[in-house]
Amino acid sequence: MAQFFKKRRRGAPGPSKNELKVRRRRADANEAAQQRPLAEEIPGVQRVTLQLDFLTPQRQVLDQQTHVFNATDTPEFTAECLGRCGGTGIFDLSDKVQQAVNARQRTLQSTDLCAERIFPGSSETCGFQLQSTIDIVFAPANG
Ligand SMILES: [Zn+2]
Repeated sequence: MAQFFKKRRRGAPGPSKNELKVRRRRADANEAAQQRPLAEEIPGVQRVTLQLDFLTPQRQVLDQQTHVFNATDTPEFTAECLGRCGGTGIFDLSDKVQQAVNARQRTLQSTDLCAERIFPGSSETCGFQLQSTIDIVFAPANG
């Protein structure tokens, strides 16, 4: 277990190309979302609750998080992988949330596998998993 948490050795100081890429990706995602509140982002939805279980490749629970977004909150449907990729892997649940909303489904469960390499050029992938439960509270229909 402990070996997973060893700090990566760094060559040149400053962020690596990969880290810059991830930062750009996040900036893009934020721009796309434009920091809008949930009620504007997904009309007709009152609350979204994300229950996130981070699992090791051996399916041991590494961390559990619950995120609740109410109508006026700015939702954040992405989670950084806590595994061996060192946070390069990003689990993005926004499509799943949208999918559940479109289907007017109140609960959606999924398991996603982090396929990031554990370091650039490695053939080994991270393999950590995110088990998520998305709970959606729909706003009462108008009229
Ligand atoms: Zn990972």
